Amino acid sequence: MPQLLKDAIRDVPDFPKPGILFKDITPVLSDPTLFQLSIDKMLETVENLEIDKVVAIDARGFLFGPSVALKKNAGFIPVRKQGKLPWKTNSIAYSLEYGENVLEIHQDAITPGDRVMIIDDLLATGGTAAATVTLLKQLGAEVTCVTFLIELDFLNGRQTIDCDNIHSILNY
Ligand code: AMP
Repeated sequence: MPQLLKDAIRDVPDFPKPGILFKDITPVLSDPTLFQLSIDKMLETVENLEIDKVVAIDARGFLFGPSVALKKNAGFIPVRKQGKLPWKTNSIAYSLEYGENVLEIHQDAITPGDRVMIIDDLLATGGTAAATVTLLKQLGAEVTCVTFLIELDFLNGRQTIDCDNIHSILNY
């Protein structure tokens, strides 16, 4: 079944910069069977885990995180790009496969000891996810699981993420 998902991912060369092969997930989102399958596969990665909060990363993590959070009866927490969150934030600068960025989280988003699952669409160099783990640990979270729809294995991004429970549904 994951092969059906894999077949639907569209490779877009040189987007958003020359040399980047962009993995376009919109054909998965537009097909309800594939969209549901992607959510179900993410849920399997936390099947036997108690999760208090699902944290998803701006912007494509938001497409999956809320559905997983509701199924797990967990809260949903957005980690957003700089300047988007209205309340008091903690922030961290990081680099990703094609640029630099700042991520922010609300200071009151996490209760110390919260068991957290992190979700994003794709793991490339790992900078984005590693920065998110750092933000969460600063707030006292226990990062229980990090789950991606897609992992670009050749970039070894998972080595940069301070969590020993990392999953991806589709590997390239
Ligand atoms: P990184 O921090 O290098 O692991 O980059 C991961 C973040 O950048 C994710 O939020 C992805 O949405 C995005 N990203 C990086 N590389 C790609 C790619 N080749 N195709 C689609 N999205 C990507």
